[in-house]
Amino acid sequence: TTAARAHLVTDADVARLVPSRPTDAHKWHAAVWVVAGSPGMTGAAHLTARAAQRAGAGYVRLSTPGLDDDPGRPTEAVGTPLPSDGWADAVLADAERFRALALGPGLGRASDTADEVRRLLGALETPVVVDGDGLHALGDDPAAVLADRPGPTVLTPHDGEAQRLLGHPVPADRLDAGRGLAARTGSVVLLKGPTTVVAGPDGRALVVTAGDARLATAGTGDVLTGVVAALLAVGTDPLGAAAAGAHLHGRAGVLGFPRGLVAGDLPDLLPHAFPQT
Ligand code: AMP
Ligand code: MG
Repeated sequence: TTAARAHLVTDADVARLVPSRPTDAHKWHAAVWVVAGSPGMTGAAHLTARAAQRAGAGYVRLSTPGLDDDPGRPTEAVGTPLPSDGWADAVLADAERFRALALGPGLGRASDTADEVRRLLGALETPVVVDGDGLHALGDDPAAVLADRPGPTVLTPHDGEAQRLLGHPVPADRLDAGRGLAARTGSVVLLKGPTTVVAGPDGRALVVTAGDARLATAGTGDVLTGVVAALLAVGTDPLGAAAAGAHLHGRAGVLGFPRGLVAGDLPDLLPHAFPQT
C-alpha cells in the first residue's frame, strides 16, 4: 500500500516541524497574504483566511481581486483591495512584507484571472501555496510557469486538479504521481484524498492518513490551504509545512462532529489539533 512505501506523518513530526511562537514574536513575523475569492464568491477566501489565523499566522491580509467591500471577512483579517485588472503587479509590489501567500481558492476561472496568476507566480519570491482556481490557471503545463519560479511553491491538488496538471488521470500509484509532478514542477505537491501524499522535488515523500470521510465536504480544501500557508509563515520548510498542514487538518476533522461537519467548523478545531507539548 501507499502508506508502506513512505513515512507516515505523526503528531511527533508536527511537534518537530512547527515551532512554537517565540517570546519576542511580532505579528508581522508570521504574516500571510490570502489572495483568493471573486466578487459573489467569497466563502472559500474566508475559510482560507480563518484557517491561517487559527494555524498560527500573526497577521492575515485578505484580498479578493475586484472586490472592495467584503463584510463577511473574518474580523481579524485585514482587507486590502486589489483592482480587478492587473492585480499581479499590486501583489508583487507589497509581497515582501509577507512570509507566505495563499493563492487561488474561489478566484474563478476567467482567462484574465489565470493570466494574472501566472504572471504573479513567475515573479514572486515569497513562498506560496497554490490551490483551486490557482491550480486551474496553470493548465496542463504547470512546469512552464513553475519550473523557474524564484521562490518555493506548494501545490495542493485533489485528484481532479491533479489530472489537469498531469495531463492524464491520477494513476493508482499516487506516491509515484505526486513525486513525478513535484519533480517536473520543482514544487512540493500535496495530493489530497482519503490518503494524502506529500512529495518534494528531490524525491522525498510522506503520507498523511490523519483525517477521515467527514472531511469529504465542500470547503475543507480551502481550510487546508490556509493551514499550509500559516506553517510556511512561521518558518516551517515547504515539504514540512505541507506534511504537517495535512496532518493537522485531518486531526482537526476527527475532532469535529461525527456527522454533519462543515468546513467552517475546522478552523476553530485547529488549535486543539496541535500536539500538546
Ligand atoms: P477539496 O477537494 O479541495 O475540498 O479538499 C478536500 C479535503 O478533504 C482534502 O484535504 C482531502 O484530503 C480531505 N478528504 C476528502 N475526502 C476524504 C476522505 N474520504 N477521507 C479523508 N480525507 C478526505
Ligand atoms: Mg478545493
